[in-house]
Amino acid sequence: MNKSKTYWIRTFGCQMNEHDSERLAGLLEVQGYRKVATPDLADVAVFNTCAIRENADNRLYGNLGHIKAVKDVNPDLKVVVGGCLAEKDRETIVRKAPWVDVVMGTRNIEALPALLQRVEEQGIPVVEFSETLNVFPSALPARRDNRFHAWVAIQYGCNNACTFCIVPSVRGHEDSRRIGDILGEVKDLCADGVIEVTLLGQNVNSYGRDIYSTPKFADLLLALDGIEGLKRVRYTSPHPKDFREPVARAMAESSVVCEHLHLPLQSGSSRVLKLMKRSYSREKFLDKVAMAREIIPGLALTTDIIVGFPGETEEDFAQTLSLVEEVRFDSAFTFQYSPRPGTVAATMQDQIPPEVVTERFNRLAEAQHRISLERNEAHVGEMVEVLVEGPSKKNPDKLTGRTRTNKLVHFTDRELVGAGVAPAAGTGLGRLNASIGVSSAVADAPAIPGQGEFRTLEITGASPSHMEGRLV
Ligand code: SF4
Repeated sequence: MNKSKTYWIRTFGCQMNEHDSERLAGLLEVQGYRKVATPDLADVAVFNTCAIRENADNRLYGNLGHIKAVKDVNPDLKVVVGGCLAEKDRETIVRKAPWVDVVMGTRNIEALPALLQRVEEQGIPVVEFSETLNVFPSALPARRDNRFHAWVAIQYGCNNACTFCIVPSVRGHEDSRRIGDILGEVKDLCADGVIEVTLLGQNVNSYGRDIYSTPKFADLLLALDGIEGLKRVRYTSPHPKDFREPVARAMAESSVVCEHLHLPLQSGSSRVLKLMKRSYSREKFLDKVAMAREIIPGLALTTDIIVGFPGETEEDFAQTLSLVEEVRFDSAFTFQYSPRPGTVAATMQDQIPPEVVTERFNRLAEAQHRISLERNEAHVGEMVEVLVEGPSKKNPDKLTGRTRTNKLVHFTDRELVGAGVAPAAGTGLGRLNASIGVSSAVADAPAIPGQGEFRTLEITGASPSHMEGRLV
C-alpha cells in the first residue's frame, strides 16, 4: 500500500466521464492514495478527457504543457491521460507529450493501478486500450464528492452513427449491465445515504437490447421504485427514435422517476436530421413529445440543438425555430456546429460560414430564452418541493434546490445560511477500504448544511435559467 501517496484528477466533458473519474479516484484510494487539490501536491495526476468539445486536443496539449512544468519540479509525478480523447489519439499523446506516463482507454479503467505499477517497474510510458469492456466501471470502487446523489452507469457505448458524434468510435458498441447488478448498486448507494441517482447511458432507451434481446429500460425504471431510501431517479440521455410509450408509462407510474425528459432534438428539419443520421423526422419527434406530455402529468421537457450543421439552409433553420416555438421546451442546450475531427460531418461539403452559424444561433437563443422565461413565470405562486444542493453559486446568502422537473430554485433559509459547515457524518474512506462490495464512499469534505434535504417553497419569481422561492 502507498499510504502516503496522493492523486489529483481533472475531468472534462460529460457525466459519464464524471462517473468514470469517481471510479479512477476510488481505485487509487483503495491503493492508499489521498486526493489533493492541485497537481503540484500530487504523486499521480490524471486527465480524464473528452473528445466532443471544440479544440479538445489543443486544450489537452495546453494542460499537458502545464503539467510538464510541474513534473520538471517533481520528476516522480506520474501523469495519466484517459477518456475519449485518449481513445482517439492513443500513441499521438505520448509522441507529442513524452512526459505522459500512462495513456489508457475508456474500457479498461480497472487497469489503472496495474498500469501505474508497470510504469514504476519499467520506467517507460505505458499505452493500453481494450476493445471490450471487461469490467463495468460501476462495479469498481468509487469515491463520490456528493453524499446524496450518485451517477449510475447502466450502459456503455452506442450503436448509433450520428454523423456529428465521435462517441461510437471512442466508446464502442452498446454494452448493458444486468438489471440485478444495477439494482444491487442502487440499494448499496441508498444504504450509504444516497437519495437521488442519475442513470447514465449514451442511449438509455435501448438499454438491455444487447443482453435481453429487447429493450428493458421501462422494466428497470419500475424495478427501481420501492428501493428503500431512494427518492428521485433521473436519466440521461434518451434517443428520440427509441423513446417509446412503455418508458413514458413507467415514468408516470413510478413514484421516484422525476417528471423531466431530456429529449435531444438536434434539428427541426427532417432533411438535416437525415444528414445527421438521427433516424427520426420532425413529425416523429413531435409525435413523441405529444405522447410523453399526454402520459406524464407535469412533464418538463428539455433538449439539445445544433445550429449550422453542414448543408443547413435558412429554410432548415426556420424549421428548427418553428419547432422550438411549437414545442416550447423548458430549456435547451444550444450549440454552434463546428467540425470535430474524426466525425463524418467534419468531412461533409457545405460547411456553414461561422458568422452565419453565430447569427442563427443568436436568433435561436433569443427565442429559447423568451420561452424558458415564460415557462418559469407560469409557476409563480405555485408550491414546489426542492432537493437542496447547497449555496447558490451567484449569491452565497441563498440556497439552491432542484425541483423534480429539474428546475433550479434559489431561496433563503435563515437557519441554514451562515450556519457554516457541519462535520461530515460517516465519511467514507474507511468504509471504501473495508468493503469492496459496497464499493462507494463519499469524500471526506465537510457536509454542506441543508444539502440533500427537501424543502417546500412558494415560487415568487422567475428568470430564463432559474426561479426564486420563499420557504413555507
Ligand atoms: S446516439 Fe448519436 S449522438 Fe448519442 S452517443 Fe450515439 S452516436 Fe452519439
